[in-house]
Amino acid sequence: MVQAGTAEDEVVRLCQELIRIDTSNPGDHSGPGERVAAEYVAEKLAEVGLEPTLLESRPGRASVVARIEGEDPGRDALLLHGHLDVVPARAEDWTRDPFGGEIADGCVWGRGAVDMKDMDAMILAVVRERLREGRRPPRDVVVAFLADEEAGGRWGARWLVDEHPELFEGCTEAVGEVGGFSLTVPGDRRMYLIEAAEKGLAWMRLTASGTAGHGSMVHPDNAVTAVAAAVARLGSHEFPIRLTKTVRAFLERTCLAYGVEFDPDHPEKCLEEIGPLARMIGATLRNTLNPTRLDAGYKVNVIPQEATAQVDGRFLPGHEEEFFATVDELLGPNVTREFVHHDLAVETEYEGALVAAMEAALTSEDPGALPVPYCLSGGTDAKAFARLGMRCFGFAPLRLPPDLDFSGMFHGVDERVPVDGLRFGVRVLDRFLDRA
Ligand SMILES: [Zn+2]
Repeated sequence: MVQAGTAEDEVVRLCQELIRIDTSNPGDHSGPGERVAAEYVAEKLAEVGLEPTLLESRPGRASVVARIEGEDPGRDALLLHGHLDVVPARAEDWTRDPFGGEIADGCVWGRGAVDMKDMDAMILAVVRERLREGRRPPRDVVVAFLADEEAGGRWGARWLVDEHPELFEGCTEAVGEVGGFSLTVPGDRRMYLIEAAEKGLAWMRLTASGTAGHGSMVHPDNAVTAVAAAVARLGSHEFPIRLTKTVRAFLERTCLAYGVEFDPDHPEKCLEEIGPLARMIGATLRNTLNPTRLDAGYKVNVIPQEATAQVDGRFLPGHEEEFFATVDELLGPNVTREFVHHDLAVETEYEGALVAAMEAALTSEDPGALPVPYCLSGGTDAKAFARLGMRCFGFAPLRLPPDLDFSGMFHGVDERVPVDGLRFGVRVLDRFLDRA
């Protein structure tokens, strides 16, 4: 018996229950895995007549995919995707149990509340309501709930794309995280940031080799000195501003919203207006390099033969070559680099019927909505689906209160999502599916 109730009623409970299933992903398979959450999702989809496919890439690492037949199966299909894993949480740092899914102060609290069990719950609630009411989407919609996004998707989206691409047959467009959330701007209006691009990533291990020896002697060939110098050069390098079309569109529309003139010579000017979000948007104006790890030696008076460091590099769409040319120049002669992880930058045109559907769905639920494209400084499963040729967007609609530091919630302590935001998201997603 399928439980009655609207998607708006159901979304909150679905989000709470998903949060209560611990899917922490430390990145080394030592976590609980996504299997229990995947079974939960599969059951919710099967209850409304779908035939979900549950697949394990490794024991416990499960993803779920289902296809909803549209009114016109001849049209290209749309993929809606969310990840089931979360980053770990240290309970002692939190005000509330990170896996409690409690409701307090008008929010659902817990790890994954915004990244991204909120969207998982929204997709589930909307799909369930539509199927209960016999409302098919205009075209085939594939829904995917994925493992391992927080560790790069090797055992989730990337594995599915490599091993089971048939599940995504006909999908030319994809909608997932991180976008659709609001930023309050003057005049009681809200910009809604729709992700149309993502920086690429180059996580690199640097290695310097030298001559081992006694710390008391003259020693010009010291691996620690060499790697430290390279790290300092990389970490303090500032790349020039390169305005991609997505970032330019974001800055122009943001300037307009705040009544600031867009200055192409100082495009970063309007970032002063947008509060904490400037940390993320600021990183999309240029390539970046951030040293994150150092490792060398075993005793204070022994010079080791080798010293290593790790650096988190991010490059803009269209600027990968420039990025690596600069890195190699900065490395210097005795330091080599290899990838810990390397993934592409993605960017799609912010135009067309799907964009129009997102914008119309937002403005019909929030007349003060100002949809804007933006580039994410991080990476998502969109990178995997872009490999299959899909145009990828981040659109997990949430209307947020003006004072919530939303970008700080991602992987943050006391992660929480407003209940009203979830309900709003469900209404927008439903309208979006009518038009998509
Ligand atoms: Zn996420």
